[in-house]
Amino acid sequence: AKGSRSKVPNESVQVIVRCRPISQKEKAERNEIVTTIFPSRGVVEIASSENKENRKVFTYDAVYDYQATQKNVYSEVVRPLVGSVLDGFNGCIFAYGQTGTGKTYTMEGTPSSEEQMGVIPRTFEQIWSHIDRTRNSNFLVEVSYLEIYMEELRDLLQPGTKSLELREKEKVGVYVPNLHSVCCKSAEDMLRVMVQGNKNRTVGFTNMNEHSSRSHAIFIIKIEMCDIETNIIKVGKLNLIDLAGSERQSKTGATADRLKEASKINLALSSLGNVISALAEDSPHVPYRDSKLTRLLQDSLGGNSKTIMVANIGPSVLNYNETLTTLRYASRAK
Ligand code: ADP
Ligand code: MG
Repeated sequence: AKGSRSKVPNESVQVIVRCRPISQKEKAERNEIVTTIFPSRGVVEIASSENKENRKVFTYDAVYDYQATQKNVYSEVVRPLVGSVLDGFNGCIFAYGQTGTGKTYTMEGTPSSEEQMGVIPRTFEQIWSHIDRTRNSNFLVEVSYLEIYMEELRDLLQPGTKSLELREKEKVGVYVPNLHSVCCKSAEDMLRVMVQGNKNRTVGFTNMNEHSSRSHAIFIIKIEMCDIETNIIKVGKLNLIDLAGSERQSKTGATADRLKEASKINLALSSLGNVISALAEDSPHVPYRDSKLTRLLQDSLGGNSKTIMVANIGPSVLNYNETLTTLRYASRAK
């Protein structure tokens, strides 16, 4: 299949790169394509004609080109992680990359289309087909949906409430008091909650695209399973994160607010990179405390948890520098 490379099983951190197709606009402008994807080797090369001698080569757990379908990405990379959540482990899936490279396409896609639906609606289907098949357990599925904007937490299922706090308690760990959660009985239920949360994302913001490219959206699924015979309870938590755009904000003409915003996005993304690379290196010190995002996800990053980082890139020369930055970020996370 396209994009797969033999993977070491049980690897807790996986980094994959997905390159979107060339857009209509890029086609019309005949932009040079600077990325070459080698799915069978897990390799991405980047070089422009101006920069030929400067060809750079990166290797990841898997790489996907414009031909890779939503289904390919899901079944090869995501399905095993959701399987382990249904076994009582925690997991995180991140979409990272410059605005316009396919983060939301990867995470949500078009939920109404069998072909175009992304990771999140596919996890709903996997979870419910597992529940429907499993006779010896009872299940409780709850979802929460929040976003982090300017290092503040907003509950997307309770719009208009003031920003949420992050607290920490011994034995409990990090938790969010008053975070709303909704009990779901089907994949359709879960989809409705996602759609409602997405609507609430726009409330109070005039430019939806600008806002969503500057905030992290975090969809949390908690699954409690109780074995009917033994009464043993297992809990798995899955965090699905559409990160803020990784692009460098231009300093020229930026207002003080914009610069502050940019520095907070950079802080969160670089602290996430630091955490993931510390985990990948088995480092004894994992710097969770540096951002709200990593603190919030602390119980799902490291330990027995599994993490997938999908680094999204575009193929065009216009994005050369941002693409190189993303490839470097992703290879550091490994
Ligand atoms: P982001 O969320 O990173 O800003 P989007 O997911 O909105 O980017 O993608 C930007 C555009 O590119 C959208 O029109 C989307 O449909 C399209 N796109 C992204 N990735 C793919 C892909 N793999 N195949 C087809 N279209 C894609
Ligand atoms: Mg998006």
